Amino acid sequence: MKNIKVAALVVTATLSFASLSACSTADPAGTTSNTTTHPAGYTIADGFLTACSEIPFAPFEYEDPAAEDGVTGFDIELGREIAKRLGLTYKFVAVDFAALQSGTTLAAGQCDIGISAMTITEDRRKNLDFTESYYDSLQALLVKTDSGIKTLADTANKTIGVQRGSSGQEYTEEHAPDSATILEFEGDGDLWIALQAGQIDGILQDQPVNLTHVKADADYVLAEEYDTNEQYGMAFAKGKLLELQADVAAALKAIRADGTYQTLYDKYFA
Ligand code: GLN
Repeated sequence: MKNIKVAALVVTATLSFASLSACSTADPAGTTSNTTTHPAGYTIADGFLTACSEIPFAPFEYEDPAAEDGVTGFDIELGREIAKRLGLTYKFVAVDFAALQSGTTLAAGQCDIGISAMTITEDRRKNLDFTESYYDSLQALLVKTDSGIKTLADTANKTIGVQRGSSGQEYTEEHAPDSATILEFEGDGDLWIALQAGQIDGILQDQPVNLTHVKADADYVLAEEYDTNEQYGMAFAKGKLLELQADVAAALKAIRADGTYQTLYDKYFA
């Protein structure tokens, strides 16, 4: 039996970073800015695309004091571009990932859309509707360079940190040695602190996020990568906001077709 523990955590209250950006909807340089007035109920707050993400999860969503609302990243920029094309103002809301992926946050009407590097899974489809996938991903194990851990098998009798509710948690529970302890955290912010503090021996989560730590700190390496063939989708409460869902799908398609997607991809992953 694997030893699964829940780390003592402070449950983060929903934080809204929005509010200061309400005046800047139409960017004159925007390609297909749409000034149509949407019917009431098109989004949960008229004129806004209220978008939930769990942060930090760099390079997808992270704080940047220089950015609008103090947040940026691949997801955030993609979300802002979609909002602009729909004639809406992007409103960022920070949430807990476990509740976002389970559908609770969206069903409660906390936001219109979840844009949070979320893997499309059959299980999640029970409570969520997803857009077409917008990013292909995989898992990886991040460890200290001098840890001696080269493979997942080397984590026998060691502690692996995972994000609660994530596909990385699922992968770890299925594949880690039975003697490994799996410790759950709210997200990468806590995981990274725990790894640096030596509370855990590795983090098993989405490869691009672990790679961001490697790029920033040579004391850490990716021990191993796992081809889980994951695809990220933007999520909606199942069966809700169907007009918005269709418009987001069309905007995403246009963003790919006109090269905007590639420009953003190159900015964050080249
Ligand atoms: N892609 C992973 C998942 O969907 C992790 C997402 C995240 O932490 N934001 O479970």
